[in-house]
Amino acid sequence: MGIKDEFAFIQKISPKRSSSQDIIVGIGDDAAIVRPNINTDIIACKDTMVEGVHFKRETMSPYHIGYKALAANISDIAAMGGIPTFYLVSIVIPPSWEEDELVEIYEGMEELAGIHEMALIGGDTVSTKGPLVVTVTVLGKVEQGKGLKRSDAKPGDVIFLTGTVGDSAAGLHILLSDNTKDMKYDSLVRRHQQPLPQVEAGRMLALFSSVSANDISDGVASEAIEIAEASGVKLIIDRYLLPLSKEILTFGEEQAYKWALFGGEDYELIGTTSPENWEQIEVAFNEKNLAITKIGVVQKGTGKAFLQIGEETLELKKEGYNHFR
Ligand code: ADP
Ligand code: MG
Repeated sequence: MGIKDEFAFIQKISPKRSSSQDIIVGIGDDAAIVRPNINTDIIACKDTMVEGVHFKRETMSPYHIGYKALAANISDIAAMGGIPTFYLVSIVIPPSWEEDELVEIYEGMEELAGIHEMALIGGDTVSTKGPLVVTVTVLGKVEQGKGLKRSDAKPGDVIFLTGTVGDSAAGLHILLSDNTKDMKYDSLVRRHQQPLPQVEAGRMLALFSSVSANDISDGVASEAIEIAEASGVKLIIDRYLLPLSKEILTFGEEQAYKWALFGGEDYELIGTTSPENWEQIEVAFNEKNLAITKIGVVQKGTGKAFLQIGEETLELKKEGYNHFR
């Protein structure tokens, strides 16, 4: 039945107190005003989730939809080495959604926003006869000139990856195959519904120079190709070095590697750096108990990524989901 009163809805989803001193004007005026700190660069990104395209109600509760829509954006800020600060939400509402469910979407976002001390500073509310659409815009900050780009990979660099990959795709598989009652898969399902963006890892990487980075939204293959293309180099990933969780391995190695390479939505960080930096990065991550693994090397080349399996080398293609194909 959608929402009855737009004003009342906005009241409901507005933060009760504003935590940030950087907010000059929050929700309630024509636009928000925030004050940037000196010596910082502003990072901005936006991500849209469409019902039936990016999520289905059968596998994602309203709370999870909100959580994940914000997580995808925070992950982009993390991949730039930044701190997420503010978010804005545009919501396009079909009549089939109840107001309570829409409020739950915001509660999912609030949970994650709380972890990162981020504040909701605005948005837009409209109705539609089409599917639910949630668009989140996130603003973040990074020390001037310290933002991590995809284009900084150089021949001789080490390729690294945080955490484990493939778990989100495995979680979706479990949700679709209705195996959710099996508790041993809880961690995989959670990684699909409530992924953890790697802000702390991104911040650590931003302390070093000559680091390229990209977040895993479309699978390791696709993200590696993006770094290779942006940097004009060749990435060679060793299949046996890809970090996999023990939970995903219960589906067999072949399936696990497929999910890792082409699944996506893990929101880990993949990147490259010099061998000297890598030694220090590994130590720094270990000290903070953050997982990071060397998965390959960068060579001279032209925008392609390869997978090495023992003696064999295969070219990786972007087999992630492409909406325009
Ligand atoms: P205007 O007509 O000036 O665009 P709106 O009535 O759309 O104003 O919005 C009033 C205030 O509420 C603005 O601060 C806007 O950013 C905020 N807002 C509107 N919709 C949302 C939403 N879905 N989520 C968060 N903030 C919203
Ligand atoms: Mg106005």
